[in-house]
Amino acid sequence: MKLQLLPSTFDESEKASCRQHLACFIVDDLVAFDAGSLAMACSDKQRDNVRDIVLSHAHLDHIAGLPLFIDDLYSALTEPVVVHATADVIDVLERDIFNWSVYPKFSELANEFGPVMAYRSFDLGSAFSVQHLQVTPLAVNHRVPTAGFIISDGRSTVAMSGDTSAMDAFWPTVNETEQLTALLIECAFPNELEDLAEISHHLTPRSLAAELEKFEADCPIHIINIKPAFRDTVIAQLGELKIKGLAILEVGKVYDL
Ligand SMILES: [Zn+2]
Repeated sequence: MKLQLLPSTFDESEKASCRQHLACFIVDDLVAFDAGSLAMACSDKQRDNVRDIVLSHAHLDHIAGLPLFIDDLYSALTEPVVVHATADVIDVLERDIFNWSVYPKFSELANEFGPVMAYRSFDLGSAFSVQHLQVTPLAVNHRVPTAGFIISDGRSTVAMSGDTSAMDAFWPTVNETEQLTALLIECAFPNELEDLAEISHHLTPRSLAAELEKFEADCPIHIINIKPAFRDTVIAQLGELKIKGLAILEVGKVYDL
């Protein structure tokens, strides 16, 4: 399984910056998990191929690229872009984003080939298929109802928490998963911003270490969703934990998992 965290910004020489403002993970150039920077940073191949977008929740850094992606493709789409999300998230998108005030209501629009956008809802705990992937959405613990995912292509299986604080429902299912290839888990804030992390339901290196006590598999752990303003501090504090197999997921790099 190929997995790539798309860049959020580019430096003056047009190289991807390591600062991750937005969340968008593309699997096999075909399925997007969250759409933060999808329109802005996807490759031509990804723009041509990605028609399924699986959302963890509706926070801006996870959906910012979704309206723009459909806008870019509007007249070229021969099939709708399918947004997979919980009913709660779909309600938020329809009420607060695709409402004509913020952006067009693409779910009601069609080009010469047909509808340009469709929703497919999923329930937390119930697995579903997207293209060649089997996806199990699991409840995590964020400020709003949010899904983590176990993603399998039949050979590799990746668990991804997305935005979260301390989790209960996530770990038992992850620990039961056979031959987990990798864990992706967030660490948004440094230890000294524990109060802010608690209010906003995010992790710090200290609370991440407590979470990883619940994790039983022996596989690489990739850290995602570090707030750019605190990136250096968070990385230094993560290094002090000396957790085996733990590394920062590099922005833009294509991982073969
Ligand atoms: Zn969030």
